Amino acid sequence: MINLPNGLKQPLSLIYLDANATTQVLPQAASAALATMETLFGNPSSSHITGLQAKRIIDETRQQAKNIIGAGDGNVIFTSGATEGIQTAILSALHHAKKSLDSSKEYCLLYGATEHKAVPESLKHWNKILEINAEVKAIPVNEVGQLDMDFIAKEVPNALMICTMAVNNETGVYQDIHLLDQTIRANNKDTAWMVDCVQALGKTDLNLANTSIDYAVFSGHKLYAPKGIGFMYVKENSLFTPFIAGGGQESGLRSGTENLPGLAALNVIFSMLNGNSKTIFTTLKTLHIFRQQIAAALTQAFPEIVFNHSFENSVPTTINFAIPGFSSKEIMDLFDAANIRVSSGSACSSKVARSFVLDAMGLPVWQSESAIRMSFGPAMTQQQIDEACTRIVFAAQALGQSCLTTDTNIITEKTALEGLLQFKVGGSCSWLYVDKKTQSAIFIDPLPELTERLKTLLTCQGLNLVAVIDTHGHGDHQSCRGSLADDYLAQQQTDMLGWPVNSNTTIVHGKHYPYIVLGDKWLIKLNTPGHTTDSTSLLLCDPVKASTDDLLVHYAFCGDLILMGSLGRTNFSTSSATAMYSSLQLLKALIGTDSLICPSHDYNNEFTTSITAEISRNSLLAQVITHQINIEKFLIQKTLMDTHIIDQSGSEIMCGALIGDCHKILVREYTSRSLTEALAQPNNIILIDLRESYEYTLGHDKHFKNNVPLTQLVEFVHQHKHNKQQPLVLVCRTGSRSQLAAQTLLRLGFEHVGHLKGGYALHQY
Ligand code: PLP
Repeated sequence: MINLPNGLKQPLSLIYLDANATTQVLPQAASAALATMETLFGNPSSSHITGLQAKRIIDETRQQAKNIIGAGDGNVIFTSGATEGIQTAILSALHHAKKSLDSSKEYCLLYGATEHKAVPESLKHWNKILEINAEVKAIPVNEVGQLDMDFIAKEVPNALMICTMAVNNETGVYQDIHLLDQTIRANNKDTAWMVDCVQALGKTDLNLANTSIDYAVFSGHKLYAPKGIGFMYVKENSLFTPFIAGGGQESGLRSGTENLPGLAALNVIFSMLNGNSKTIFTTLKTLHIFRQQIAAALTQAFPEIVFNHSFENSVPTTINFAIPGFSSKEIMDLFDAANIRVSSGSACSSKVARSFVLDAMGLPVWQSESAIRMSFGPAMTQQQIDEACTRIVFAAQALGQSCLTTDTNIITEKTALEGLLQFKVGGSCSWLYVDKKTQSAIFIDPLPELTERLKTLLTCQGLNLVAVIDTHGHGDHQSCRGSLADDYLAQQQTDMLGWPVNSNTTIVHGKHYPYIVLGDKWLIKLNTPGHTTDSTSLLLCDPVKASTDDLLVHYAFCGDLILMGSLGRTNFSTSSATAMYSSLQLLKALIGTDSLICPSHDYNNEFTTSITAEISRNSLLAQVITHQINIEKFLIQKTLMDTHIIDQSGSEIMCGALIGDCHKILVREYTSRSLTEALAQPNNIILIDLRESYEYTLGHDKHFKNNVPLTQLVEFVHQHKHNKQQPLVLVCRTGSRSQLAAQTLLRLGFEHVGHLKGGYALHQY
């Protein structure tokens, strides 16, 4: 455990820095909402006193909303939230536009490229439903997120509608509404203009009646009211089509019995904003100071931090940044462990987690992929900011302790590395083996994305790099072997893959193999062509005592020869399926059936495998190993298999087709309660926390005394290969890492492995 700075106590209190996603309901607002459920519960449409009392709340709230946004003679209609407001605005504009479409003209619908997805998706939806078939066009933004006025001037004459946002939810960047107004109206007097004001409420001054904005939408839950209440502004005389018809509430503009609790809460928030009641909201000036303080703490903690937006043109309540060398998932895990809630500023689509907002601003891909957003609201206090700043530095210390950063000069202790570590980037793997005694290490199949991390690790741990080796020339990705070798092994003479030319030779089963020494282990190289001509397998094993002895292999780094649930592709120009056949048999002869195989890809998060585990689901491999198939038949089947190299998402798997039975193994799931019950039984369960050591250090359940970071799962499998009966229960942050690891252990013959479903997220400590 690292020492907690003065005043920090475990468990760490919650620091919530995700206000742009949603906010907690203020106690004052919550009690007003509660009152409308317990006492002022009338239906505002009822004409008795209870109904009239309810109606008064709505009227008051509407009046206050009008004041806050400067609605003038415009209307305020209550909705369920901004998404409903967006539908209503778009439906209103397009329903009207449809009536006067000129079939000889080409129309467009414009929206800002950094708009919340609710806007373009709704535009596309209604464009289709109403059969308008206008072209839906994104307005580009410049590098600081401001809309391209020239583009608007050019395109808006043909626009049936234009949608822009006042403040961006990922970056806090605000638009110049006045300039937009001028640009739009100079080129199209009549087009409908909607502005998404969700992130502007309470953070900027609004005076909508002074603009030509037709519709503006707002949401309560971004400003301390509950979810499910929002409102929209409609300019006087702007066209309107009800999105929800029914009992005629909201003057027939939005039917359905009003959300009175939500409205009462909103009323309280509005009273504070209007200065009609004691406010806890801080001034804009103070919010700017808060952001400076957080930015300073972040810079102290991560000196290489890059801010993804300019503070000059963004509201002070948002900070979006990236830390070189860290994915947003890693930083999210770190902050969650430190009990700081932030958001990965990216929309997690199935394959790449990237921020389309930062992409639209033209930021480098790595910044967009590793974006983190911190956001807070006007109810933030100096005390909370101070705590957040201390905690941010504290979280960075934990990273330093794991030797993932050397940036902090506050690192007091380090966790010494030992054994095998697996690093993954996308579906590719790099492997670092560390011999603790001699402080030496080898790095296999080095991915360029890991260069800096490896250098930091080597320096921080004081490790001596003995070799950096590729198992083969990778076709799908670059290797950083050359640059690492230049930095650490300039004197070493190697072949093209990094194997030292002056290595020793040993005899195994009558054949000569080169090897290098790493502490008390050997790394033996054998040529295993097939996937490519230059493919090799590297076997980390005990030293060979007699040439007749079988090898005692700990790990077989076999590149793309055997992949998990698959075999490497053999349809490249340098491939040979027949050579692969012999390589598979050679590998099996040297490593046996139970040594751990560490391939250079892990497309399905399976970590490691063995020949025993593979032959049960890979019938082609099974037939080769048991000599049930000859080279000719293997060639036919392998050629067929290579035609199936498309994965579920439709993209080509570069290095090997998925074959055989990749079905997920059923893992026993525990809840907090069933785990407590199980622990009360005499079954000797061992509880393992699978999060990385920096997360574990920051806080864990006291029962989870063992930490096996997922990066070291393969080492754990090796260490426990003779104790597979031991009941294990795994935990992680959300239950996803623990489930994957449990599946791997079960597949490799561990008998009793379960995991805590939902992880720490659903299990308080
Ligand atoms: N627009 C912006 C800018 C937002 O941030 C959000 C919420 O994330 C929405 C629209 C959708 O708001 P609601 O959740 O009220 O539908």
